[in-house]
Amino acid sequence: MKKVEKPKKPLIFYYLIALIILVLLNTFLFPNILGKNKVKEVDYGTFLTMVEGKEVSKVELNGDTIYFTDNSEEPKYYETTTFDDPNLVNRLEDAGCEFGRVAQQEMNPLLSFFLVWILPLLIFWALGQWLAKKMMAKMGGGAAGNPFMQFGKSNAKIYVESTTGITFQDVAGEDEAKELLTEIVDFLHNPQKYTEIGAVCPKGALLVGPPGTGKTLLAKAVAGEANVPFFSISGSEFVEMFVGMGASKVRDLFKQANEKAPCIVFIDEIDTIGKKRDNAGYGGNDEREQTLNQLLTEMDGFDASKGVVILAATNRPDSLIRHFSVRGRFDRRIPVELPDLKGREEILKVHAKKVRLGDDIDFNAIARAASGASGAELANMVNEAALRAVRENRKYVTQADLEESIETVIAGYQKKNQVLSSKEKLIVSYHEIGHALVAALQTNSAPVTKITIIPRTSGALGYTMQVESEERNLMTQEELINKIATLTGGRCAEKLIFNSITTGASNDIEQATKLARAMITRYGMSDRFGMVALETQNNPYLGGDSSLSCSPQTAADIDQMVVDTVKHGYDTAMELLEKNQKKLHELAKYLYEKETITGEEFMQILTRTETLEEAEGK
Ligand code: ADP
Ligand code: MG
Ligand code: ZN
Repeated sequence: MKKVEKPKKPLIFYYLIALIILVLLNTFLFPNILGKNKVKEVDYGTFLTMVEGKEVSKVELNGDTIYFTDNSEEPKYYETTTFDDPNLVNRLEDAGCEFGRVAQQEMNPLLSFFLVWILPLLIFWALGQWLAKKMMAKMGGGAAGNPFMQFGKSNAKIYVESTTGITFQDVAGEDEAKELLTEIVDFLHNPQKYTEIGAVCPKGALLVGPPGTGKTLLAKAVAGEANVPFFSISGSEFVEMFVGMGASKVRDLFKQANEKAPCIVFIDEIDTIGKKRDNAGYGGNDEREQTLNQLLTEMDGFDASKGVVILAATNRPDSLIRHFSVRGRFDRRIPVELPDLKGREEILKVHAKKVRLGDDIDFNAIARAASGASGAELANMVNEAALRAVRENRKYVTQADLEESIETVIAGYQKKNQVLSSKEKLIVSYHEIGHALVAALQTNSAPVTKITIIPRTSGALGYTMQVESEERNLMTQEELINKIATLTGGRCAEKLIFNSITTGASNDIEQATKLARAMITRYGMSDRFGMVALETQNNPYLGGDSSLSCSPQTAADIDQMVVDTVKHGYDTAMELLEKNQKKLHELAKYLYEKETITGEEFMQILTRTETLEEAEGK
């Protein structure tokens, strides 16, 4: 069966081999059959004539069929059919030819048994094996051992050093994560260094962080650096439609890992199996539970000193806490947070290595403007910039490309063909200048860097960009209040100038409300409740879902306070804009004509007006 195991040969190749084997078998084992294939068919009359003429030497009877040879130098075979000739024997005796009932008796009964019963089975078995093997190869399974045994085994792919090609060099920022992971890799290589002191290798490490921060990338880098077998499987692969498959996959994965130790097992998106055992919804929950239980059992059961390290990644840490962290299965939690300013700059640089750059690139400025962007978004920005350069037939990427791509990633592409009516354009101009003015007129607001009224595919009709001059980790209460005022600035300008309001402020309203609510329920910034947590955030990374934990009475109070806070911001903004109506008009007209203005232009007009006014005042 060795021949059959060679992959990559076309199917026809195997058919040919089978054919050749059959022909050979026929030649050597059944020469008669082969010979009889060449027989000449004659009628019974001819046969009798030949017998009487003593031309026949040997006769074989097989039922109604008679095989015979002539008595020439090279005997030829003949075949004829008799019809119960009672005198046949006499005739043959008279003619003096050899005859008898021959057929299979010359064949060894054992051999014939083998050929008839065993050989076909063997052929089918081999074919089945070969097919199974092919299937496993297609499914990406490690095809070691008996392919039949591989059915239902895990799809864990084995990555070895050479295959990922990703190293820690490719992961920018995230220094703490890299450090912790390096230590684990080091343990696998020099276990005695640790065991001498009595240190035990962590059983598992859990990479926790928002989406797109490079968790999967980090794990791949570990695979690239580790030089030990690396099994990788994603949580969703465990949870399959077939009942019991998930659990058996877990079992098999750990069996394989134990055989290959020291090695690393990486389970991506482990939250898909490690979810809170929430209210039973569909039948699928049962399956997940089985898989989860199996995973917990295996993690408890295996011997960490053998050198099997389990890495897992998730962006829903909350749902995992109960199962994995609390009971110490993953005794190391590695936070992979959104990159800070320096991290963003480094990530941009890592990805910019792959594109040709002009010489006006200032990564720091881009990194500052892209505050809050994840690694994946930054990677995307560099690519968008390169695409824009290609669109404009340039051979290199410029700073303008990168700046534009920040907006593309944040707000979507420019909608070049969406034409605003001049009335709408005017309203949007006032709206955006309203934001910018309120921001600029308050202290403690981030400086305005860009204002545009070019519509975006995200649905935004205009856009005021504020960029902090340095990385911010804390926001003061005052800044939050100012921010709410800035958000209401757009609507204020509409109301003030046109005395009518539009739908354009929907996003501002949402953000302002969220901020105001968070100030009261989570940041403890209200006089009424002080430092009491009224709300718990269920998932800090995926945004959104938080749940109130207070009485309905308090909830109603909170709602009222949110209304008051936003209203207060609105009043502040209105007051500021009323006082500076002249500037509002001037700036809005300017923006209306230019469509996009920079922060410098904005500040220039703002300050120039002031000096003019001062001059008028004198
Ligand atoms: P996660 O698994 O955390 O959701 P990924 O590891 O899949 O995120 O990251 C997606 C992509 O974003 C990566 O392939 C990489 O191109 C880019 N990326 C994310 N973080 C980083 C980083 N720290 N350094 C370099 N590239 C990064
Ligand atoms: Mg991932
Ligand atoms: Zn707005």
